[in-house]
Amino acid sequence: MSINDEIQLSIDQHRLFYQQMRTTTPLQALVVSCWFGVLMYHDSSVFPKLWLAIFMAFLAFRFSVYLKIKGWDDYKVASQMNAVNRNGLIAAALNGLLWSVFYIYSYYHLSERWMFLFAAFVIILMASGFITLAIHKYSFYAFFCCFIIPIIIFTFMHYENGSTLFFMAFMYLFFGFNILSLHKNINKTIIDSLKSVIENKNLANRLKELSNTDSLTTLSNRRHFDEKSYSTLKQVVELRQKFSILMIDIDYFKLYNDNYGHLQGDNVIEQVAKVMKGALIKTSDLIARYGGEEFIVMLANTSEADSERAAKTLVRIVEALEIENKHSKVSPFVTISVGVAVVAPTDDLELKEVIKKADHSLYQAKSEGRNRYCLNS
Ligand code: GH3
Ligand code: MG
Ligand code: MG
Repeated sequence: MSINDEIQLSIDQHRLFYQQMRTTTPLQALVVSCWFGVLMYHDSSVFPKLWLAIFMAFLAFRFSVYLKIKGWDDYKVASQMNAVNRNGLIAAALNGLLWSVFYIYSYYHLSERWMFLFAAFVIILMASGFITLAIHKYSFYAFFCCFIIPIIIFTFMHYENGSTLFFMAFMYLFFGFNILSLHKNINKTIIDSLKSVIENKNLANRLKELSNTDSLTTLSNRRHFDEKSYSTLKQVVELRQKFSILMIDIDYFKLYNDNYGHLQGDNVIEQVAKVMKGALIKTSDLIARYGGEEFIVMLANTSEADSERAAKTLVRIVEALEIENKHSKVSPFVTISVGVAVVAPTDDLELKEVIKKADHSLYQAKSEGRNRYCLNS
């Protein structure tokens, strides 16, 4: 994976994590309220209320952070990743601690029957932490260590007061270790599947790029030109902007091939394409290889004067490459002819009509001697 893919993976991983947290935080608030009710029933001191207030404030704060992150774009997520990671880790640790302190407090205030229920709940909480935090292993470890380890230590230290809980401590240990070892695998599985989503996306993009690109010149191919010119045309018609089509053809290229060989001819097509692409500076300019030694350019939002200037530049820079063509009847070097059609769009305008016009101009440029442009408005 490239560095960009690694960053994308990390962004996707964080997004999934936030999404999980957005779902489970309100659920946790509900569970916290239930246990608050149970404890209040047995103990009306200030601790349960304090615990509820702190826990609810903590969950509300956490939820607001995860909601805020929802609106972030990839760039923002990437730039805030370290801070979010650190805060997520602290939050997971604090969450674990809030539960373990509550568990230990409850031990002194709830009956053994209720504590047995609480112990079962600890296992459920461990399992849900395992699922929710599976995507973010450090948060899971933080939650696990702050939640389950204090409970295990405490239960073993107080085993003489309740044999059931002593048994439960073994359950925590057994289940906890199982979850820890499973966590590694599930985390890897999730990361691997995120990776393959990125790889598939890259492959699809690459495939699209390949199907749109002419392999010799790396310009757009005719299919891609048809697709893009259609959307550009829609745009210029909407905005009532003039646009132009330039048809370009290398002069005496058959003679060039016959004398210098086909491979050398390919080389020329490549060089001509490269220099023409470099000369078109506006991002809205569209250039494609239209056929063998023919190219097409679409200039959006352009005047006659701009189009003429562009055509003149193309003719000049190709000759300036000074690629020898002894058999040309117009120059010692490889040259091109350009046919230009400039139109003011109307709703019923068809692109092929404009291309026909540009083709006609090209024919005219050829018959007037080649190595020139001809404009047809
Ligand atoms: P004109 O000045 O009238 O355009 O003359 P021309 O010889 O260039 O015109 P014509 O269309 O008759 O010839 C085009 C030649 O381009 C024919 C073919 O040998 C050559 N050609 C087409 N595609 C390729 C290609 O991919 N590679 C190479 N090397 N040559 C190609
Ligand atoms: Mg031709
Ligand atoms: Mg030609």
